[in-house]
Amino acid sequence: MSQDYKYLYGPVPSRRLGRSLGVDIVPHKICTLNCIYCQLGSNPQTTIERSEYISIADVIAELSEKVKKGCDADYITIAGSGEPTLNSELGTLLKAVKKMTEIPVTILTNGTLFYREDVRADCADADVVMPSLDAGDEQTFRTINRPHNDISIEKLVSGLCEFRKTFSGQIWLEVFLVGKLNTNAKQIARIKGLIERIAPDKVHLNTAVRPTAELNVAKVTRSSLRAIAVQLGDSAEVIADFSSIEQPEQLEITAEQVFSMLKRRPCSVSDISAGLAIPPNLVIKHLTHLQQRGLVESYHTEQTLFFRAL
Ligand code: SF4
Repeated sequence: MSQDYKYLYGPVPSRRLGRSLGVDIVPHKICTLNCIYCQLGSNPQTTIERSEYISIADVIAELSEKVKKGCDADYITIAGSGEPTLNSELGTLLKAVKKMTEIPVTILTNGTLFYREDVRADCADADVVMPSLDAGDEQTFRTINRPHNDISIEKLVSGLCEFRKTFSGQIWLEVFLVGKLNTNAKQIARIKGLIERIAPDKVHLNTAVRPTAELNVAKVTRSSLRAIAVQLGDSAEVIADFSSIEQPEQLEITAEQVFSMLKRRPCSVSDISAGLAIPPNLVIKHLTHLQQRGLVESYHTEQTLFFRAL
């Protein structure tokens, strides 16, 4: 079904959102950050330029068709293969979705552009906003998230604080933990201080359970994540997908197509995405599933993460 649409994928099972219909509104790796743990590979060409990177009229047309046909999603998730708030017509999309369906809408964002009033206004109609915070100080932020030069951790945090003041929906903050970088007691205490300022409704802890842009991104154990959740307080819970939430039977057909492509030659996520006309997020899910079955392995060249069949 995902192959019928250019900007929609799913609904796919999501641990946090149930059945989530993804809406992709930025091209591959158009982002304000270049996180070391990014599943889409590395792109040092970060940007803070808002633009209509993908035609929102086209996205609305696809969504409208999907909703008319009947869509049994628990959430419509606006995300992308980069940072969705970079699409300058995000607000237009939100308003259109709210008119066409009662399915709640969530925005999966890195949170870096909430210092801008127009981004806060664009996100106001969402039901859930899911931003990220991975560091307690500027140096760690630069090490893990490798932001555009005009983005700082203070800008990120104060932007989210401003948004919190007026936003009536839920804010679920994700903290991605990387061994040796943001898991020591000092970092956790600082992250906790920033979380208290932002006052999210929930805090979700994640770690590198899937292939990452850089090597040496150390996965944190489930028990360490649980211990950190206790330190961060009642709103914190572990959402890292250690056991895989995928349902193989649902993904089988396209996973086989991904596998046969890799049998012909090694590919990056974007190669597979372009070759099979499916969104990168879905490619990553298939690759994770194939890796768990021991059929595929990943390796790095200078800037690109490749996958090959075993
Ligand atoms: S993980 Fe998200 S925020 Fe970080 S570089 Fe990748 S797309 Fe951007």
